[in-house]
Amino acid sequence: MKPFMPPRLIIADPCAAESGEQIITSARWIQKCGGQVLRAGIWKPRTDPNDWQGSGDKAVRWMWKAKKSTGIAIAAEAKDMRTLTMLLEAGFDYIWIGSRNGQNYALLEEMGRMTKKSKTPVIVKRAMSASLEEWLGSAQYVTKNNPRVILCERGIRGYSPDTRNILDLQTAYLAKIQSPFPVIVDVSHAAGRRDLILPMSFAVMAAGLDGLMIEVHPHPLKAKTDSAQQISFQNFQLLMSQIDARYGR
Ligand code: PEP
Ligand code: MN
Repeated sequence: MKPFMPPRLIIADPCAAESGEQIITSARWIQKCGGQVLRAGIWKPRTDPNDWQGSGDKAVRWMWKAKKSTGIAIAAEAKDMRTLTMLLEAGFDYIWIGSRNGQNYALLEEMGRMTKKSKTPVIVKRAMSASLEEWLGSAQYVTKNNPRVILCERGIRGYSPDTRNILDLQTAYLAKIQSPFPVIVDVSHAAGRRDLILPMSFAVMAAGLDGLMIEVHPHPLKAKTDSAQQISFQNFQLLMSQIDARYGR
């Protein structure tokens, strides 16, 4: 199988798409800094059903427009069959399955089936309490039909209030050496706080993993979701230049 992603995959952008303006501005910035993929939460899986649930369907168009005008690849989470269909019809380049659906076998299998023809890579986020075996099992539901799977570690449930989750680099590394799949790490949801994004990104690169997912927002303090973990455009630029300097391009 031909490589289906760049050797170092950097997926960046906001936790949630909040406006068309935000998305296009971010797309330009991410691209300028060397990020290859624009991410955004469109239908947000929120703990509280009364919280804001994301911009919804209209944000698919904002992402599509950003791709059309900049050429950047786009990625989003499909939460069910309907949203998966919408993302595929809009030409999303990567689709991910979120941690909360990480063991939704029916959806995983359907993802594989529906992305088979388009050959769209599927990013399988690790369920928040999945063992390595369970995580790889989830991936195999996709590969029944589509072999283009990327694993994404995003932190596992811990006990400490100091960080949102525990970045489990050990299991991410084991996944890399024990499976045929590329492994990337979502440092933002692992850490839950922006002061850990830079050092944890270095750790991921030092471990020889295949890429990063990072939440970036034009005004992190004003972000509607996950404000504490999103980094500014300037800090993303700094991070990218430091990664290039340390680990090469
Ligand atoms: C996300 O990436 O937007 C997200 C909600 O992450 P996770 O599914 O890992 O919690
Ligand atoms: Mn988020």
